[in-house]
Amino acid sequence: MKLPYAEPYKIKMVESVKRSTKEQRLKWIKEAHYNLFNLSSNKVFIDLLTDSGTGAMSDKQWAEMMIGDESYAGSSSFHKLKDTVKKITGFKYFLPTHQGRAAENVLFSALVKAGDVIPGNSHFDTTKGHIEFRQAAAIDCTIDEAFDTSNPHPFKGNVDLKKLEAVFKTHPKEKIPFCIVTITCNSSGGQPVSMENIKAVSALCKQHEITLIFDAARFAENAYFIKKRETGFENKTIKEITKTFFSFGDGMTMSSKKDGLVNMGGFIALNDEETYKKAITFNIMFEGFITYGGMNGRDMGALAVGLDEATEFDYLESRVEQIAYLGKKIVAFGVPVQKPFGGHAIFLDANKFVPTIPREEYRAQALAVELYIIGGIRGVEIGTILADRDPITRENRYPDLELVRLAIPRRVYSYNHMDYIAAVLKNIFDSRNEAKHGYKIVEEAPIMRHFTVKLEKI
Ligand SMILES: *Cc1c(COP(=O)(O)O)cnc(C)c1O
Repeated sequence: MKLPYAEPYKIKMVESVKRSTKEQRLKWIKEAHYNLFNLSSNKVFIDLLTDSGTGAMSDKQWAEMMIGDESYAGSSSFHKLKDTVKKITGFKYFLPTHQGRAAENVLFSALVKAGDVIPGNSHFDTTKGHIEFRQAAAIDCTIDEAFDTSNPHPFKGNVDLKKLEAVFKTHPKEKIPFCIVTITCNSSGGQPVSMENIKAVSALCKQHEITLIFDAARFAENAYFIKKRETGFENKTIKEITKTFFSFGDGMTMSSKKDGLVNMGGFIALNDEETYKKAITFNIMFEGFITYGGMNGRDMGALAVGLDEATEFDYLESRVEQIAYLGKKIVAFGVPVQKPFGGHAIFLDANKFVPTIPREEYRAQALAVELYIIGGIRGVEIGTILADRDPITRENRYPDLELVRLAIPRRVYSYNHMDYIAAVLKNIFDSRNEAKHGYKIVEEAPIMRHFTVKLEKI
């Protein structure tokens, strides 16, 4: 008999989660105005809102918390982290920050001016935010295959080289402070970028004398996909792969809340001394002195261990394959999802799941609410509510995809939880034709409405 997969860790500490009844959840979600962000976590059974900062630390990480060095300058925890970042990324210079967007704030303060353009593959919201805040523009150069949920392309995070070259040809290089490649590409569904593509982007950047920066929040998951899907990397270790792709770039920003396996933190790593020196000034202004940058010594120690653990094959296999397990299970039930499955989440395709609910009634949100009512599961809408209104016409913007993201926290839930989620989805899917109506907005903020929007059932 073929042996089933079993996780490469055992459990030393448990956290209870609250069960509830459907009646309770119907009452709670109404009180929350059908906005899942308004629910307190003790009203949620399985929380798939995000994989950011929600992972479980290991015994070795907790041990580091006890021996953290809280010295203002030059703490040993800082040096531990700096050495690990050097080992995994190869970049020469390192600056800690309190989270990923803080790394963006510091680096972009040093590099981005009004009128600049920054090409990349589906920039993450905060990245785009920090670019647009500086009156610069983010230009999406992701391959077209990324926007078709049924296309099985193995590297849907790839940059389209023709689109990138067009940007380089239509803008003077003084207006392009850098190109940013997000690994894995969060906004296109946790989809990886291939080594071949990274290499080609790097060559094109060099040819046009443009700096290449990685938004590396999920770099370890990206390396796992390269090992599994790209020829020539089968026998390489994850750490060899990460070092290889980072060698094609000039620097990175990192949200350590993802592949750092910690609950809070971030950093910048760079090769260029001049950029590093410019960034130091902003780091000291916004974050803290250069040997802590908004992080506690103990948290830097835990991050050093977390980065090491996150770049081990066994851990990554347990992480990515758990998500694929859930994906395969619900696909077998007929549930429409984005394929291939992402590195950190499963995305339900609400346009195919509940076409009976009009788009004007926020069908992806309706599906997310149903998942909560039926199973106590909290996902998040990535559809019309998130896409917000056009700033000029104030009309709803309807994106190509209406998705519900089920982000899986790292080392937190078991295969039984995956089976439970799959069963809830099957039950909802089997009665999908009864869903005729969604929601209407009764109150919303002028921007970023999804966090505070109030809805009413139609
Ligand atoms: C989460 C994330 C960020 C921002 O990081 P925070 O730690 O949430 O500030 C930037 N880029 C990507 C790809 C991310 O996933």
